[in-house]
Amino acid sequence: MDRFVQRLDKGFKAIDDAEYILIGAGAGFSAAAGLEYSGKRFDDNFQDFIEKYGVQDMYSATFYPYETQEEKWAHWARHVYVNRFSVGKTKLYGQLLELVKNKDYFVLTTNVEHQFWINGFDDERIFATQGDYGLMQCEKACHNKLYPNEDLVFKAIENTRDCKIPTEMVPKCPVCGGNMEINVRKDNFFVEDEKWHEMYKNYSEYLGHVDENKNIVFLELGVGFNTPVIIRYPFEQMTYDNPNSTLIRLNRSHPDAIPQNRDRTIGFDEEISEVFGYWLSRV
Ligand SMILES: [Zn+2]
Repeated sequence: MDRFVQRLDKGFKAIDDAEYILIGAGAGFSAAAGLEYSGKRFDDNFQDFIEKYGVQDMYSATFYPYETQEEKWAHWARHVYVNRFSVGKTKLYGQLLELVKNKDYFVLTTNVEHQFWINGFDDERIFATQGDYGLMQCEKACHNKLYPNEDLVFKAIENTRDCKIPTEMVPKCPVCGGNMEINVRKDNFFVEDEKWHEMYKNYSEYLGHVDENKNIVFLELGVGFNTPVIIRYPFEQMTYDNPNSTLIRLNRSHPDAIPQNRDRTIGFDEEISEVFGYWLSRV
């Protein structure tokens, strides 16, 4: 890799010259923005669950097989409150918007904390493919509708005792009467509602520009190998296919280009805030 300052300058020029900027944001980007799922944030907010169930971090705790709905929802309410409703704007997402707001941008993200909306990105330009912590669905996907959970979350966190919520507070599917789930993709019962399909359509239309070999930057932020088929591999493929494109990859552990794209990939394993700060100082 070139020296840091050379890569910064190359990256800035690519963004400045680009007609289109397709942002791909993964878990590493939210972690860099302060939404860390382990360490102090986890220990401070989940002490009772750590003691009772031995859960190790916020991500794996969402897969813990709680035996009752009262426990499951006590946990989810806490998790959603900590990562979705108590957070507000974050500096890093705000910096990203500053960087792209005058461009024809689009966001593809696997993140489910709603941060792109909270920070003022255009609703028409966001495809959050894996769901949203602020929404619930039928566990068995018996119908195609999503339900906001904000009221439930705030009531549940106030009424959690011994890692349980009161039975009468447990949400039930209004159609089949069965259990509910948070609308986050984890199995084949994930509900893609009308809004999801509208976002998917906007994304597909945006990719139409990309196919025409336009000058585009793929700005990949904190995308690892958890679900690489959603952002990382397609971005590599599109970079390879379009000779007028540049892939800018910000990733603490895996910033490298695939060999075929080496001359059109700019990789950074430095702090994202530092890279954004430099680019914004030149705008
Ligand atoms: Zn149902």
